[in-house]
Amino acid sequence: MKAALNPAQRPVIADAAFDWVPRSLYVHIPFCKSRCFYCDFTTHVAPKARIESYVSALEQEFALLATQATEPLQTVFFGGGTPTLLSSEQLERVLTALRRHFALAESAEVTMEANPGTLDAQKLQVLSEFGVNRLSIGGQTFNDRLLLALGRTHEAKTTLSSVELAKEAGFKRINVDLMFGLPEQSLQDVEESVSALVSSDVEHISAYWLKVEEGTPFAKWKQSGALVLPGEDLEGEMYSRVREMLRQSGYEHYEVSNFAKPGGQAEHNLVYWRNEPYFAAGVGSHGYVQGVRYENVKQLALYEQQLANGERPIREQFDVTAGEACEDTMMLGLRLAEGVNKHRFRARHGADLEQVFGSVISPLLNKGLLEWRGPRLCLTEQAWPIGNLVFEEFVGTGLTTGLVD
Ligand code: SF4
Repeated sequence: MKAALNPAQRPVIADAAFDWVPRSLYVHIPFCKSRCFYCDFTTHVAPKARIESYVSALEQEFALLATQATEPLQTVFFGGGTPTLLSSEQLERVLTALRRHFALAESAEVTMEANPGTLDAQKLQVLSEFGVNRLSIGGQTFNDRLLLALGRTHEAKTTLSSVELAKEAGFKRINVDLMFGLPEQSLQDVEESVSALVSSDVEHISAYWLKVEEGTPFAKWKQSGALVLPGEDLEGEMYSRVREMLRQSGYEHYEVSNFAKPGGQAEHNLVYWRNEPYFAAGVGSHGYVQGVRYENVKQLALYEQQLANGERPIREQFDVTAGEACEDTMMLGLRLAEGVNKHRFRARHGADLEQVFGSVISPLLNKGLLEWRGPRLCLTEQAWPIGNLVFEEFVGTGLTTGLVD
């Protein structure tokens, strides 16, 4: 499937037509109350003093990073960790620093991740006052037995009360994360969680498969046979049922794992899926600026030290080649219901999508896994549950099709 193009057909790739100005910022807040059994994110259970010094370092990083920002930010996403573990005063400091150093578009989407039980009326008021207009709440499941099995510290009713509290504080844009494929989870458990979530009437739902990551307690328990997962067939059924129930309840399935009421798509995440540039701040965060992907250092002490020295805390960075950029556009863009628009591809990469990936696309069209809808190449209905198999077909192809950087 990955045959190289005839050299005479090889297109020259250029990013000249693409607007490389980042208008988005991801900010990582690496603290949690405790560590969930499946989590491999950069996060720490840290004393209050540690959080305070991190906030100071983040303010310094904003100052350094903002010198590169030439346009107002359209989206900002505070992820973690649990950003709402910060006190009201610390949240106010971070949000004030953001506005001091960066211009924000009037309509900017500013999202903050929150865990159930870490929100109160005072924090919500600070968030709202300082421009946060979207919350993403980590509910995961509405079954208390499963929450315990995941190592979560909240109960199902806390998620629902957090959603209500946020609504009372005036937040209209709320996402709740849901997980499925959990240890000993049944299809009925999934249906009950989706029903509970639908009745809370949130704008957006992210529904993810549990992935067992190396180095986590779950990985150890899986290896020893102590972790019993539902298995591929049942997980596939769970995904189909989640899609069916959410679509019947008025949610558009606009990305492999994401559902939104009309107009409620996550603008920040669309930047990632459309392979557009973005800044990143915070320990262990990843950014993509001027064709370069960078990753910040992962150790808190080193992060703070480098900023105290007036240096950007970058651990490593690398140029994304033209071929890799094309692959990223396909693998990320095909996750979206809107698919990859061939005109947009040309504007982004200066090359014809069919010429670059024709040998990969044809067999997938023939197998009924991809289809053209006007200028957009999209997953077919039957391909949604096995999207990863389609995305994998594009890995390494940009390098073997003779693209010129
Ligand atoms: S709350 Fe989220 S970031 Fe924190 S430990 Fe759990 S999964 Fe990881």
